[in-house]
Amino acid sequence: MNRWTLRPAPYLRALFLLAFGCSVLLAGEKPATRPDGKTGDGEREDEDFASQFLKKDVPPRSEAEMKAFLTKRLEDLKAIGGTWRLKETKHFCCFSNVPEAKHAVLCQWNEDLYDRLCQVLRHKEGDKLWNNKMPIYYFEAFAQFQKFTVEIDRSPGSAMSGGYFSANGREVHICIPFMSERFRTDVKSQDRMARATLHHEGTHAFLQLSGESVPLNRWLHEGLAQFVEFWYDPQNNPARNQRVGFLQQCILRNSVPSWESMRNRPMGGMDVEGYAFAWAKLEFLYRSFSDNQKLPQMIRLVKAGKSEDEAMASAFGFPVDKLEEGYKQWVKVQGKRGFNFGQ
Ligand SMILES: [Zn+2]
Repeated sequence: MNRWTLRPAPYLRALFLLAFGCSVLLAGEKPATRPDGKTGDGEREDEDFASQFLKKDVPPRSEAEMKAFLTKRLEDLKAIGGTWRLKETKHFCCFSNVPEAKHAVLCQWNEDLYDRLCQVLRHKEGDKLWNNKMPIYYFEAFAQFQKFTVEIDRSPGSAMSGGYFSANGREVHICIPFMSERFRTDVKSQDRMARATLHHEGTHAFLQLSGESVPLNRWLHEGLAQFVEFWYDPQNNPARNQRVGFLQQCILRNSVPSWESMRNRPMGGMDVEGYAFAWAKLEFLYRSFSDNQKLPQMIRLVKAGKSEDEAMASAFGFPVDKLEEGYKQWVKVQGKRGFNFGQ
């Protein structure tokens, strides 16, 4: 079972600092160690991205198996606390113990994300994706999320994360806590964080599984996950502001790393440089060309077996070194504009 805990620690830290203006509890962000010696906050992501999805060809559940699974899961969730409900929509099975009206809103978040990802990646209904409808769990309280990771999902290393997705071939699910008692922020901030987690984790799952599931470089995974996350929430977003501030400092110091050196970064939740430049590269590739078709074309070519460089040159119509020259100019201009795309 492959489990990714992909919400980068700096994101939580930025939110925490925003909420409390201090860093007293930052030690609490340290990832928990799993029984297998791995950590839950991204250190093994490289290996996961490279191979874990390919390890198992897990067939979809039959209709009867899916029904049995959902019924049992709903029963098991009672032990977590609160009143659990299951709402099925076109592409998701959404479990939650939040009040029913809010649960309906969460279902809408899920389907909105699905539509957005279809748009960005040019995914068509019926193309390969995840098995069945994807289960997504939203927990009203952080302690309930933790209990679930240990007692039901058998993923204790994820217990200190801000949410994660778990994959076994094309069998995937996403777990998202509302951070009520962990950060003691207001409801609006908790909702914002939970939704950002959905967008981030959902993008990873969708990108990997849309069409063929082949190894994708980390800059692409984390670049796109942040791109979608920030697309929804560009204004006064602490995580986005942190990225922009970091990039501006690097640009001022004339220290923009090469694409080659950043190909498989970020290497973990603490790799701010890796996250920042992965996001910048993705924004460049999506926004700097007249149509928005080139990035999804590139991804399709990678999934068809081309190397990333070949796919990039073919989709964008320039050799990679020329594209990178353009990117370096673009980054400088965006640094001055604060990466404000007028969203
Ligand atoms: Zn991520």
